[in-house]
Amino acid sequence: MGGLILGAALAGCALLAQAPDLAARRPKGPALPQGRTSPDLRPGEAFALAGPDGAVQSWGEASAEQALGSLAALVWLRFEGDAWAARDVRFKCPGGAAGCTRPKGHGRVDLAEALKGDCRLAFRTWIAESAAQWVEDYGEGVARARLEEGFRPFLGARLPRADRLPDFGPAWTGDGDLLRTTPAAFLAWLADPAQFELLSRCRRTLGSASFHFRDLVGTEDWWTHAGVDAQGAWVAGGNGRAAALLRIRGACSAEEARARFRAILGIKG
Ligand SMILES: [Zn+2]
Repeated sequence: MGGLILGAALAGCALLAQAPDLAARRPKGPALPQGRTSPDLRPGEAFALAGPDGAVQSWGEASAEQALGSLAALVWLRFEGDAWAARDVRFKCPGGAAGCTRPKGHGRVDLAEALKGDCRLAFRTWIAESAAQWVEDYGEGVARARLEEGFRPFLGARLPRADRLPDFGPAWTGDGDLLRTTPAAFLAWLADPAQFELLSRCRRTLGSASFHFRDLVGTEDWWTHAGVDAQGAWVAGGNGRAAALLRIRGACSAEEARARFRAILGIKG
């Protein structure tokens, strides 16, 4: 399975190699459906959209800082996705009593299933395994510096100074306030060319719905990643040319959040 993921990731890279041509044929910046100049947002929603040139437009409460929540999984996928795919990681989730997002547990999950189901226990287990490997490979001081570098956009100055690795508790998979972002800042990070391999992996792992945001992206498949936390829900998505991010404050299920994401983009699920 690891070979499959790597092979498909390489195929994704070949597609991405065409991106500059596609970008050159398109107008600057993203367009909204049917000539609208702003999306129809409800109170408490924030929406950000990045087009082929990486320029980010945002609406609603897009500059309000909030907990990273389920988006932490995407940052970890960027940080350790290659290693986890190569190891073909697996996990058996015992469920809510042990601190996961689904009370009955997620059962046996691989990387794709953990990502889709927001199985934070699986991620914490794999993070701990990775951390042990980093220490063995290049020592704890270097591992710490690399971790700080990778998570700096979401950590601010909240991580106490140290030369050892932190305990990778729930805060590192999106619970609480350690990792924070704004919708506009996270989408800018996601749309950065440095994230091409992450986006390729997301598209392969999470993409299934055929979305029709015709003005911007035609009928290509969009991947989406949704998750809920104590303050609301996040939905991130993209299709290789464009990326978008929705934040909803307040009680909302992952499915409801995905439906809003599609409605705001004016696309059919
Ligand atoms: Zn789980």
